Amino acid sequence: METSLSQHLDILNPAQQAAVTAPLGNLLVLAGAGSGKTRVLVHRIAWLISEMSVSAYGVLAVTFTNKAAGEMRGRLRHMLGSEAEGMWVGTFHGLAHKMLRLHWQEAHLLQNFQVIDGDDQLQLIRRLFKTLNVNEDRFEPKKIQGYINRKKDEGVRSAALSHVESAYDQVAIEVYRHYEKLCEGSGLVDFAELLLRSYELLKNNVELLTYYQARFLHVLVDEFQDTNTIQYLWLSLLAVHAKSVTVVGDDDQSIYGWRGAKIENIRRFEREFSETQVVRLEQNYRSTGTILSAANALISHNGSRLGKTLWTAGEKGDPIIVYAGFNEEDEALFVVREIRAWLMEGGRASEIGVLYRSNAQSRVLEEALVRAGIPYSVYGGLRFFERAEIKDALAYLRLVVNSKDNTSFERVVNVPPRGIGDRTIEKLQEIAAEEQCSLWEAAKKALERGIIANRIGAGLAAFVALIENLMAEMVEGSLSKLVQASIYESGLLAFFKDQKGEKAQNRIENLEELINAATDFENEYPVENNLSPLAAFLAYTSLEAGDRENGQAESHVQLMTLHSAKGLEFPLVFICGMEDGLFPHHFSRENPQSLEEERRLCYVGVTRARTKLYLTHAEKRRVFGRDEERRISRFIREIPENLIKEINRRVSIRYPHVQTPSVIPIGEEGEGFCLGQRVTHPKFGEGTVIDHEGMGERTRVHVKFDVFGSKWLALAYAKLEAV
Ligand code: ATP
Ligand code: MG
Repeated sequence: METSLSQHLDILNPAQQAAVTAPLGNLLVLAGAGSGKTRVLVHRIAWLISEMSVSAYGVLAVTFTNKAAGEMRGRLRHMLGSEAEGMWVGTFHGLAHKMLRLHWQEAHLLQNFQVIDGDDQLQLIRRLFKTLNVNEDRFEPKKIQGYINRKKDEGVRSAALSHVESAYDQVAIEVYRHYEKLCEGSGLVDFAELLLRSYELLKNNVELLTYYQARFLHVLVDEFQDTNTIQYLWLSLLAVHAKSVTVVGDDDQSIYGWRGAKIENIRRFEREFSETQVVRLEQNYRSTGTILSAANALISHNGSRLGKTLWTAGEKGDPIIVYAGFNEEDEALFVVREIRAWLMEGGRASEIGVLYRSNAQSRVLEEALVRAGIPYSVYGGLRFFERAEIKDALAYLRLVVNSKDNTSFERVVNVPPRGIGDRTIEKLQEIAAEEQCSLWEAAKKALERGIIANRIGAGLAAFVALIENLMAEMVEGSLSKLVQASIYESGLLAFFKDQKGEKAQNRIENLEELINAATDFENEYPVENNLSPLAAFLAYTSLEAGDRENGQAESHVQLMTLHSAKGLEFPLVFICGMEDGLFPHHFSRENPQSLEEERRLCYVGVTRARTKLYLTHAEKRRVFGRDEERRISRFIREIPENLIKEINRRVSIRYPHVQTPSVIPIGEEGEGFCLGQRVTHPKFGEGTVIDHEGMGERTRVHVKFDVFGSKWLALAYAKLEAV
């Protein structure tokens, strides 16, 4: 192992080596983008274990995304082999969750507590608005949700908030209080709660705290600039007696201020962790000289910085290309054209990152890519586990695991329809309130007492029997069987099968995919500790980013928001929609601090690029269905002109919808259509082929018809003809 480590150390520069092998103690690596911070962090763990005889069991490593955590685990396994086992590597949320599962009793949680995502949380808050008679127009549920989460991020419980003058705060506190109670009673834990609860668990439990403090003697954190207050407190509590605490970060890349992250935590770390050694890395290994100069110039417009310089020994490289599209479609066509040129020159699709400020921008880009037959994946975009039909299926399972989960009960008691209406649910709610029990128990009581009219009673009885069956199956069968049962036996699948149209078809496919997800989960994930496979799977569905990666990401262009691009790198990067109002986003206009955060986000985007960078914008963009004139982003103007090459539009030429014979042929040899091809259908008229799946007889194509919208059709029956 030692030889391999020293081999690895060879490819570190002296400053990086100094950081990796810094004497035990507190270490802050403060350095710009692409200078090797993440690399240093991983090597330091390897160094601790193989050179300093530290046990992996004593290491706690925190990263920002699940993807980054996965990569880190992989690299450590590669460097250390089995010695890497037993280490806690994960995101703040993932690690806090692990702790709460292990110590649910001490944390005053139900054993089968469920993690809920932002959407579920918003649903709960909406429901509280109704119960508490709060006006949705005056106090937007989304804003109150933000209020609650910010308070939790600050470590503040509702009980600690006294009533205040402003009517708004008063209502917010009131909702917060009831929200806490509701979650408590139903065994639900939101993301912010994971951390707060885990912090309180340690704080109020000397024995546990002592145990973990004695265990995690080496603590390491990546992307430290994006920690919020509660994460900082959690870390410092755990790391009080640690022999080494290593944090790495870049104040210029702090982009989660809107979610409560505090750049000041970097300074605070230096103050509160004694004798912190600070290492600065200044050599950038990622980008060309031109890209780096642009990034440096851009970020120099921010006032409050800790100040760093970055240089590269690499080549100057190509100028940054700026393109002004006529509108967003023209912009997208330009992107596609340049991607195609890259591919023609032998580049790979996976080397390309297409970044944008807001999720909504992806649609037009996606359509252009589809038409051109270029494979792509949207990272962090469509969150599989957040889709309605998936949540329905999961709600059945949640109820099976935790019958107190009233939200899930309400979600599916009448989905598919069983004749159970609002009136019946209200009746159950009354019983639940009077007898202090869950809706599930209330339903059983109501049935026993025969207080529900016959027809409805039958529906409810069927529902209760169904859940009880599934509960029995949980004890006996495998996870995937159970997931399958919940989809079939609940009637959910049949319900969508009875519906016609593309939407229902998509839902059916998604439900089938959920069974695949459960099968994969069974095969790939070790079930932890005292969790049942089902409970572990449910936690996974809400904690993971939710991308069901199709395993093809390797050959795909990667589309993502600038926020999700943090820490990643691509040889070729496009940043689209470089327009004032979009990027910087209009909500940052009035506030200099959020303008600086937008600029940091732009800095993150620019520094993702290794060799080629494109900044594109549109002169007109459709916003809420109306064409708006747009102005070029100030961020482009902040980059020195001599680093930029503007590409002019081919004025007045409308790009033809390019036919690409090189793309995957659909169907059997010879009969195939191409993606992007124009076709005609006897009933739906003309349209464009935008997707396909399956093989041979089972081939289905996705056609976007000019008049009838998009539809999935079985190729064998559809009578499609090329135009
Ligand atoms: P970011 O701020 O974007 O998170 P970072 O500081 O974490 O960046 P890394 O991702 O660790 O930087 O490294 C950037 C790139 O430079 C990676 O491709 C990495 O492999 C490479 N790199 C880092 N150090 C060296 C080195 N000493 N020699 C060669 N390549 C290096
Ligand atoms: Mg990094």
